[in-house]
Amino acid sequence: MARTKFVAGNWKMHGGLAVNLSLLNALRAGMAGVKAQVAVCVPYPYLAQVQLALAGSPVAWGAQDVSEHAQGAYTGEVAAGMLAEFGCHYAIVGHSERRGYYGDTDEVVAAKFAAAKACGLVPILCIGETLAEREANITAEVVTRQLEAVLRRSGVAALAGAVIAYEPVWAIGTGKTAAPAQAQEVHALIRARVAKDDAAIGAGVQILYGGSVKPGNAAELFGQADIDGGLIGGASLVAKDFLGICAAA
Ligand code: PEP
Repeated sequence: MARTKFVAGNWKMHGGLAVNLSLLNALRAGMAGVKAQVAVCVPYPYLAQVQLALAGSPVAWGAQDVSEHAQGAYTGEVAAGMLAEFGCHYAIVGHSERRGYYGDTDEVVAAKFAAAKACGLVPILCIGETLAEREANITAEVVTRQLEAVLRRSGVAALAGAVIAYEPVWAIGTGKTAAPAQAQEVHALIRARVAKDDAAIGAGVQILYGGSVKPGNAAELFGQADIDGGLIGGASLVAKDFLGICAAA
């Protein structure tokens, strides 16, 4: 099945009103000729600015996390319905920085995935192994466990129209990229696990690679059979680099 390529930027906790504006204007202006779907996932306080700057452009936007709750006494949390009010199309869930620094367990990530879906957002489900897990040869078990938490909670149908991002933790922000064949191997096993529950959904689900993607390595990664684009951290903050990656897709 032909899947559309997708490049999503994850600004993480970077930005400011002035730098955002020049980045957003450059993205808007640089989209001519880009065939891939493109989105930026930004810090919550900038969603209104991004909505204003990108409305009517081919670049979609989203958040980097979402509460597992719909509303209530959860100080500091942001609900999926609130994100939808700011035109968000996407919400990242389960980024390894959320899992590692803020204790998001597989079950919490699955609940966040379900909360995003319930409000019509497209969750970008991040899964991936640490260096210790790769060295212990348990990459397949780890990504399968992370994926199965979502399958158990929401069923395979919830993955139709959702996005999975395979992000080996050892490759995030480290400058170490998984070799294209190494990434492809994990993408293929992720797709096979989804396809085990539903062949059509497995064939159609977009699986992005994330981990030190740059304009110079994007084309080879995105050329792999099961790699449908990228989730881009550091390089999404530099218009020329991000647009270079979008062009490669
Ligand atoms: C990320 O934060 O999801 C990521 C892949 O970061 P980087 O591209 O900087 O490795």
